[in-house]
Amino acid sequence: MSELRIYEKDTPQYKFYKEMHEKQTLEHVLNMKKLYDKNDKKMSIKTALSKLDDFVDPSDPDLDVPNSIHAYQTAERCRKKYPDDKSLQITCLIHDVGKVLFYFGEPNWNVVGDTFVLGCKFSDKCVYSDTFKNNPDYDKYDELGIYEKKCGIEKLHISYGHDEYLYNVLKKNSEKHKLSDRYLNMIRYHSFYPWHTEGEYTRFMIDSDENIKKDVLMFNMFDLYSKEDDININDDIKKYYDELLDEYFLDDLYW
Ligand code: FE
Ligand code: FE
Repeated sequence: MSELRIYEKDTPQYKFYKEMHEKQTLEHVLNMKKLYDKNDKKMSIKTALSKLDDFVDPSDPDLDVPNSIHAYQTAERCRKKYPDDKSLQITCLIHDVGKVLFYFGEPNWNVVGDTFVLGCKFSDKCVYSDTFKNNPDYDKYDELGIYEKKCGIEKLHISYGHDEYLYNVLKKNSEKHKLSDRYLNMIRYHSFYPWHTEGEYTRFMIDSDENIKKDVLMFNMFDLYSKEDDININDDIKKYYDELLDEYFLDDLYW
């Protein structure tokens, strides 16, 4: 048992989460939201997607291909199951594009990893939750913390990263694309595993959050990695999604 613990603590994933769990505080999240609220960088969604060619997610033990390949694989899994649902396919294709944060110079712990709520008690349903004890917010808040019971998950300050970032970019540029809030919410909460998979934070939920959760779990079937996935994205696949992006995105976005 103790040997197993030592081994686990030696993994890059453990080290990644330890840093993330020690540095993401409520103050940090509020600062990041303010910083990226400016949206002063103009860029097309296709350019942003291509930036993921250089990024391999350090928080995911199963994923060792560049994130752009993961984007097409996720979309292709979706297209097989829902060949006519173009909104869902586009959502799958772009869901991780918020990882351009790394291209803006953000450290990994500010970009990826399972997310959790700040401003209330840390959840022990988070992966490696023992690493929260050195967080400056540890022991600062009780179960509800700064929130009210049944305030709705939309009100929660979730650890900062690619989910919240891309959600906000799309929300701010809503006249430039055709994705509705239903799809934006799948993006916003896809890394929120303690909530959508572990059943944590139900005390903050309102009735309509159940539908969001259902959608996120449906989306997540496509976001899972499988060794059988083809890592060669052929020209036909690229062309299909290029045309879909042209249909859904009418102009460059402000990032
Ligand atoms: Fe993601
Ligand atoms: Fe993903």
